[in-house]
Amino acid sequence: MKKTILITGWTGYIGSHAVVAFEQAGYTTVIVDNLSNSSEQVLSKIGKILGYIPDFHKADICDTKALDEVFSKHGFDGVIHFAGLKAVGESCEKPFLYYGNNILGSINLFEAMVRYKVRRIVFSSSATVYSSDNTLPLTESSKLGTTNPYGTSKLVIENVLQDLSLHASLQALPLRYFNPIGAHPSGHIGEKPNGVPNNLLPYILDVALWKREKVRVFWDDYPTIDGTGVRDYIDVNDLVDAHIAAYRKLEEISGDTNGSFTPVNIGTGRGTSVLEMIRMTEEATGKKVAFEKVGRRSWDLAEVYAWVDFAKEFLGWESEKTVKEGIESGWKFISGV
Ligand code: NAD
Ligand code: UDP
Repeated sequence: MKKTILITGWTGYIGSHAVVAFEQAGYTTVIVDNLSNSSEQVLSKIGKILGYIPDFHKADICDTKALDEVFSKHGFDGVIHFAGLKAVGESCEKPFLYYGNNILGSINLFEAMVRYKVRRIVFSSSATVYSSDNTLPLTESSKLGTTNPYGTSKLVIENVLQDLSLHASLQALPLRYFNPIGAHPSGHIGEKPNGVPNNLLPYILDVALWKREKVRVFWDDYPTIDGTGVRDYIDVNDLVDAHIAAYRKLEEISGDTNGSFTPVNIGTGRGTSVLEMIRMTEEATGKKVAFEKVGRRSWDLAEVYAWVDFAKEFLGWESEKTVKEGIESGWKFISGV
């Protein structure tokens, strides 16, 4: 019999790709989103790819009653938890919004899981949980520490999951994403943030599309290849495959009545600078991408990339797609060509 899993935050960028990948891998997905950073139109796009539309609930994870209704209606085998706010700058301006939505919302979700005896959870964590005081590459045992409320919300949720693995037998696999890019090969779903993009590639693609004038490069003459920030860009299609590998890992250990908590880095192990991203986008799209040098953001680090051996060893997963492929699929989605 097909297993039913709950996917929170499914209309979002990564969640929409995950719904497609989990359905295609043979799971039934029940999907929950409050549409605060996404649109219900994604439903029909997913329908175009799958040929049908999964069971959708418009619900807020902060609403305990709504969550209870969803849990009481379905016998979930596990949860893939994407729902959350993700803009670092906004989190500095409105910290309580982030603590409330991300931390309290997650606690409600975990409380419902424990009440309904659902033990498996894959959680969208982030490389932002790592302290700036580390040597590269970042390993799962690098020092933890955050500099902004968004990062703090991820670290607190990880800590809560660790507690619940010890005291409520949850089997938790936080995936610490590096920088997701790209879109589904069909061109139907991809990253379409409401308003001005915060992340680099959607902004660069908007400039290539002449929707915005120039990329503002947060440049600080960093000790990197060209003075701009270096990040580990992971293709969203590889990223959702990592979630399937993680969920299968949880199924493997399900006989165990003890809880578990195992954070895993999800990246490529390679870094790319902002100027390299701009140049590669110009090559992939044939369009000029204008940019200007502006100062750094307060939370920016010079260079961030992952140590990926643990993901290979523990999940049997490693990235396959190149940054160039991520830029090309992102462009196909955003430009429609
Ligand atoms: P996204 O904003 O596109 O998707 C998140 C979804 O969660 C949105 O559809 C939003 O409407 C929904 N949501 C937010 N609060 C909710 C609530 N209280 N109840 C129900 N739904 C709610 O973001 P994304 O890029 O797809 O990211 C998914 C997850 O991955 C997030 O938790 C994010 O923090 C994490 N993450 C993202 C990145 C990245 O660069 N994209 C990197 C690391 C971690
Ligand atoms: N960046 C930039 N201009 C932008 C957005 C980002 O120069 O409009 C840089 C940022 O300083 C970092 C890299 O691009 O070096 C990736 O930033 P993003 O916000 O996408 O992800 P982060 O790693 O900060 O989570």
